[in-house]
Amino acid sequence: MPLLVMKFGGTSVADLARIKNAAEKVKREVERGHEVIVIVSAMSGKTNELVGWVEQTSPMFDAREYDAVVSSGENVTAGLMSLTLQEMDVPARSWQGWQVPVQTTSAHSTARIEDIPRANIDAKFAEGMKVAVIAGFQGLSPEGRITTLGRGGSDTTAVAFAAAFDAIRCDIYTDVDGVYTTDPRIEDKARKLDKIAFEEMLELASLGAKVLQTRSVELAMRYKVRLRVLSSFEDNDEHSGTLVCDEEDIMEQNVVSGIAYQRDEAKMTLISVADRPGIAAAIFGPLASAGVNVDMIVQNISEEGRTDMTFSCPVNQVARAQKAMEDARTNGDINFHELVADTDVAKISVVGIGMRSHAGVASKMFDALAKEGINIKVITTSEIKISVLIDRKYMELAVQALHDAFGLEHAA
Ligand code: ASP
Ligand code: MG
Repeated sequence: MPLLVMKFGGTSVADLARIKNAAEKVKREVERGHEVIVIVSAMSGKTNELVGWVEQTSPMFDAREYDAVVSSGENVTAGLMSLTLQEMDVPARSWQGWQVPVQTTSAHSTARIEDIPRANIDAKFAEGMKVAVIAGFQGLSPEGRITTLGRGGSDTTAVAFAAAFDAIRCDIYTDVDGVYTTDPRIEDKARKLDKIAFEEMLELASLGAKVLQTRSVELAMRYKVRLRVLSSFEDNDEHSGTLVCDEEDIMEQNVVSGIAYQRDEAKMTLISVADRPGIAAAIFGPLASAGVNVDMIVQNISEEGRTDMTFSCPVNQVARAQKAMEDARTNGDINFHELVADTDVAKISVVGIGMRSHAGVASKMFDALAKEGINIKVITTSEIKISVLIDRKYMELAVQALHDAFGLEHAA
């Protein structure tokens, strides 16, 4: 029997009525002849509440007990979902992570799934059970303790089950109806994409992160799990939502698929550092150790053995970056004239696998920004993405201008 994984996020199981609504969607798939594995999140807001309780009780909390508390929200929704299905005459059974068991590493609060043995669940399917309901976001460490997978981790649970059980697809039910060409709150002509490639979804993380945990997309790409994002508040058919899939499954596509943005970026420039072998390591090593997520890096032209080094990072890490650089200077590891921080920048990226085979995307992007009088401060490119830093006050305008320039309101 074809097996489908259906994952319901917090807003889709926020109360008993919504759990019933979700259960009806599951029942419909059973009636269509599927076996179903349902992955549930905690009711919306629940995990935040649990995290808050832990922090109030013990600011320097023991991560094992954090996981014991924070994983509990999913236990409630798993049991309630199974009961709701049973009330609808659908044979269902729930599992907590340890019962499967979902074997993970021992990195509490950020554990990774290592293996999902099928035997327990397969045995129940063989007995006539139609739906296995799994508490998402949790697993079991080699030491026999409950672990959690990091915030948003039930998406990753869903993809891992889809891979382990050779599911025909992994449907992620959420409160939006798919992935858009850009943020509809900024550009009202933003269009829902029917399909998007895994790589593009990863690059569009700033748009998609609210929809899918990044790690779940990486896992889906590795195991070629077809992921579908769709709304639990609408009636859906085969064509609803957005399919996140292998690029070979996409026939027609615009060269550019989407415009992403990152509002709170900072541009940092070290003025006049010695241009010598090892200088980049001496700068970026301490930044990494200080937990600064460096994104773009540009080394400028050198003159008389000195050069300027520019990098970007999130605005809320500027103080940390400054301290790391001052410390490195005090230690004598690096030497610079000045560290200039521009904290009023935003990053805009155009993303599309079509760029691999089409020239001219960069010039079109720069043209569109120039027409609006927007100055570009830093440019970086990858095979399927071009990113620029601009003044934050032009962010919305830039997104709109680029959406228009690349004709994203119309499908290919
Ligand atoms: N409930 C967990 C969280 O809020 C896991 C999830 O919903 O994916 O992060
Ligand atoms: Mg989520």
